[in-house]
Amino acid sequence: MNVLDLVRDNVRALKPYASARDDFKKRSKNYIYLDANENPFNNGVNRYPDPQQLDLKSMLSIQKEVSVAQILLGNGSDEVLDLIFRAFCNPNKDNVIILPPTYGMYEVLANINDVEVKKVNLLPGFDLDVDKILKAISACSKILFICSPNNPSGNNLNETAIENLLLKFNGIVVIDEAYIEFSQHKSWLNRLNDFPNLIITQTFSKAYAMAGLRLGTCYASREIITILNKIKPPYNINSLTQETVLKYLSKPSLVKQHVTKILSEKDRLLTMLNKVPFVKKLYPSDANFILVQVDDAQKRHQQLADKGIITRNRSCHYLCDNCLRITVGSPEDNNELIQTLNSIK
Ligand SMILES: *Cc1c(COP(=O)(O)O)cnc(C)c1O
Repeated sequence: MNVLDLVRDNVRALKPYASARDDFKKRSKNYIYLDANENPFNNGVNRYPDPQQLDLKSMLSIQKEVSVAQILLGNGSDEVLDLIFRAFCNPNKDNVIILPPTYGMYEVLANINDVEVKKVNLLPGFDLDVDKILKAISACSKILFICSPNNPSGNNLNETAIENLLLKFNGIVVIDEAYIEFSQHKSWLNRLNDFPNLIITQTFSKAYAMAGLRLGTCYASREIITILNKIKPPYNINSLTQETVLKYLSKPSLVKQHVTKILSEKDRLLTMLNKVPFVKKLYPSDANFILVQVDDAQKRHQQLADKGIITRNRSCHYLCDNCLRITVGSPEDNNELIQTLNSIK
């Protein structure tokens, strides 16, 4: 299979915008920049950011053991996902496959791009129904979205099943690893070169504690990354984000510390939630949140909100009857949550 055959004709033919800084090398003190109509007075952000984010990608390349040519950065993974739609899906013609209950943005982005969504529900226990997925595929199916660990259920999806889908689907398989740092399972990153149709997305919004900066990462074959680079907005990652993330990446032990703390808090929270009388079921989680089935989700959600604690009611989602999705907070947050749960009737 040649992934370039999956790309929209207009995108394949597209000549990208050549930004003033496309041949940006390391900014040298010797250059005088009179090419981009910037304001010359230095306030730290008066220059356009590096459109190729080379410093940041070099650091990521080392840490993730992936070549720079296999990395694309987006304004959050939401932008990355949108770029994937725009690269591969012809509006009003192609379709994508999503696996409810799952992350809501796949469907929203499909709707924005006027792309049909085919839904194949996960099996009870929140795992992949490979046969049904394969049956749902049509000639116009371009992308299959797999979220692992899955949001909102929190579990990892079966690796053999994913591998099967990667081999049998002649389209793009996106594995959304937004929560991978919290997981016991390995990332698919080290399998990138085994599957030309694999795209992995990760984010700095969760384990890296930088949701406010908006940085999502995308790893794929060089061919796919080249296509996505052609259609991304030239300056999609701002200078402050590039600088801040670079600083943070130079202290990798911080992420590990946060993850370890959050995972131990998750265990503590599970033990305490287990003793709350109206908690009916706790779903096993490989992420930084827990899907909790209660007696009456609407009522409990409101009671918590009245006491200033905001959770996510996922009851309307398939297999999530009366379920709240609760993020693991700080030790103080979690104590407050448990105290409140034990105080409401
Ligand atoms: C939180 C989350 C993201 C992150 O999106 P950003 O745009 O990077 O903040 C991506 N995918 C899933 C499944 C998520 O839950």
